[in-house]
Amino acid sequence: MIVLAGMNLEEIESITDGLKASKFHAKQVHNWIYNKSVSAIDEMTDLSKDFRGKLSEIATVTDTKIKTKQVSSDGTIKYLIEYPDGECVETVLMRFDNRANLTACVSSQVGCAVNCSFCATGKCGFIRNLNYKEIIEQVLTIQRDTGLKVTNIVFMGQGEPLLNLDNVLKALDIFNTDFQIGTRRITISTSGIIPRIDELANLELQSTLAVSLHAPNHKLRAELMPIENKYPIDKLQQALKNYVDKTGRRITIEYIMIKGFNDTIEAAKELAMYLKNIKCNVNLIPYNSVVETKYKKSLNNDVMQFKYILEHSGKKVTVRLERGADIDAACGQLRGKNVLNN
Ligand code: SAH
Ligand code: SF4
Repeated sequence: MIVLAGMNLEEIESITDGLKASKFHAKQVHNWIYNKSVSAIDEMTDLSKDFRGKLSEIATVTDTKIKTKQVSSDGTIKYLIEYPDGECVETVLMRFDNRANLTACVSSQVGCAVNCSFCATGKCGFIRNLNYKEIIEQVLTIQRDTGLKVTNIVFMGQGEPLLNLDNVLKALDIFNTDFQIGTRRITISTSGIIPRIDELANLELQSTLAVSLHAPNHKLRAELMPIENKYPIDKLQQALKNYVDKTGRRITIEYIMIKGFNDTIEAAKELAMYLKNIKCNVNLIPYNSVVETKYKKSLNNDVMQFKYILEHSGKKVTVRLERGADIDAACGQLRGKNVLNN
């Protein structure tokens, strides 16, 4: 059975050609898949019954299922999505009351090999890469389920997108061309895979690059992120400068705030120094406690003090709104629970 989701217009045309239907039919099918987000060929109501029948014999809209769905009191929806081989990833839809934006937080891999000590996904180990169709199916699933159109995408679910770069770039292209989501409305978050950051710099990527820094020096960062031993923070600094030079784009620095560990005044000053010559905004993320770790979320006062010091150094700083805290909508948590329950 052919799966239509993930196909571009030319690919859909080759199918309608095979059924001796016009190119306009292909356009209609394409629109039903990406804009109206139907779940079944029979819902494509402006196509004749006869054509729908023929198409249904050889094709289906999707082969992806919603395994579980949790709705938070703040409107965040978290899905566990199941692919035909039984593997699952999480996808989160975030809405912000004051804006029309609908942001999908997508996964790029099943599990993750980077193994950060604070992350629930890391604890599950690496299982496999997602192909580009599996990545875009996450956004289609949200659109089909809610009847809404996603406007922004962040690669902040499970996995390290820069360790599956070919599929991520192909998905980016489809988000852009077929979903009509602007490149600048897409953010890729990485733990700092330096050679791949260089590659994106050379491609002059116009999406936003978010870098999970989480610590201001080698010693603290190595405690949180084993990748620090392979791609150390001083080399990362060079790569980020080069990225800004080549792309002209401002980077987002992500920094998880962990109580008594990386949230001190000294840490803030050291971070300000580190970022001094890098064109970036800083996003402070209150640590979301994962059951198996010793880390605790920073106190509000410490977050505010940290923010103030960075702002004083000239950076724009935001504190990430906590979304879906009541449904464990942090990186990897749903999958972790599900695996434990089985
Ligand atoms: N692998 C990529 C993208 C996925 S993780 C990366 O690490 O950047 C997306 C973001 O969620 C990262 O900044 C990650 O550090 C953060 N994160 C992971 N576990 C978290 C937790 N328990 N609480 C808060 N943020 C977390
Ligand atoms: Fe992987 Fe990102 Fe989790 Fe680290 S924080 S283990 S890189 S998903």
